[in-house]
Amino acid sequence: MIVVMSIGASPEQIKDVENRILEWGYGVHPIYGAERTVIGAVGVPEADKARYLAQLERLPYVEKAIAIVRPYKFVSRELHRETTRIRIGDVEIGGTDIVMMAGPCTIETYELTLETARALREMGVRVLRGGAYKPCTSPYSFPGLGIEGLKILRNVGDAVGMAVVTEVMDPRNVEMVCEYADVLQIGTRNMQNYDLLREVGKARRPVLLKRGMWAKLEEWLQAAEYVFLGGNHDVILCERGIRTFETYTRNTLDLSAVPAVRELSHLPIVVDPSHGTGRWSLVPAMTRAAIAAGADGLLIEVHPEPDKAMKDGAQSMTHAGFADILQQCRPVAEAVGRRLV
Ligand code: PEP
Ligand code: MN
Repeated sequence: MIVVMSIGASPEQIKDVENRILEWGYGVHPIYGAERTVIGAVGVPEADKARYLAQLERLPYVEKAIAIVRPYKFVSRELHRETTRIRIGDVEIGGTDIVMMAGPCTIETYELTLETARALREMGVRVLRGGAYKPCTSPYSFPGLGIEGLKILRNVGDAVGMAVVTEVMDPRNVEMVCEYADVLQIGTRNMQNYDLLREVGKARRPVLLKRGMWAKLEEWLQAAEYVFLGGNHDVILCERGIRTFETYTRNTLDLSAVPAVRELSHLPIVVDPSHGTGRWSLVPAMTRAAIAAGADGLLIEVHPEPDKAMKDGAQSMTHAGFADILQQCRPVAEAVGRRLV
């Protein structure tokens, strides 16, 4: 870390800071300027850093104390040059192939889920999405079928031969959801639910970690680090749009997060253009753009009859609409050296 002393800090005050750093057991490298002194401290362990930074900043003769390395380690690109490949059923994400994950926002009935799954499977899609536990802004809206929904999703997945991804909201449900799901989704609202992150960290299922709608990349990657530290290294990041002043779209889909995450982390990243835009008409273009930007996969909402969907109909594709997206995306994938399975 770097400690910037206030202008006019006395030699005693500078000495005090140096002594504190030495007492903590770290190396001190001061640069004495005419006006201001800057002190470098090396060898500070991750666990102590935040506390020491705050303690130093509390001193009236310290202007700033700054960490110089990133606040996450295991998920950082420095640790792994190659993008991590993660297995989902019989597909792998993070390699050349772009993985499409699609399905209804919410599991409504066995029949409807099966209808969509069959159509998707015929188009070559291998991962089915569907929510059984729905985080709802309104306490009056449909919260999902719960365990019944999980059973439907699993049965449909098995019937058509697709892996399934579904959201888990409660740390107490993680073990149970693992019995039905191939991938555990952490929704945007729970990205900083640290008890939940720790719990899925213990699970033996890949985690699809959505970006908090308010979260900076650094906070998102720190959330991924939580899962990693729990022992689960199979984390897939999902950009799903962030809150901005714009209201025409439901969220602002931050596609720059895709190449940025590539620079910062070795984790694969997928894009959710459905929640990212909130409008089905914008989903095809944003899907093409996501692939061009380097996404490893897509998470897209599809419903047999979006105008009758219980949730998120406005952003859901019909089966035919989704088939069009696949058509449009193949040449885009090829153009950037990827393949659409
Ligand atoms: C979803 O995938 O249906 C969902 C609720 O997503 P998000 O957490 O991104 O809003
Ligand atoms: Mn949804």
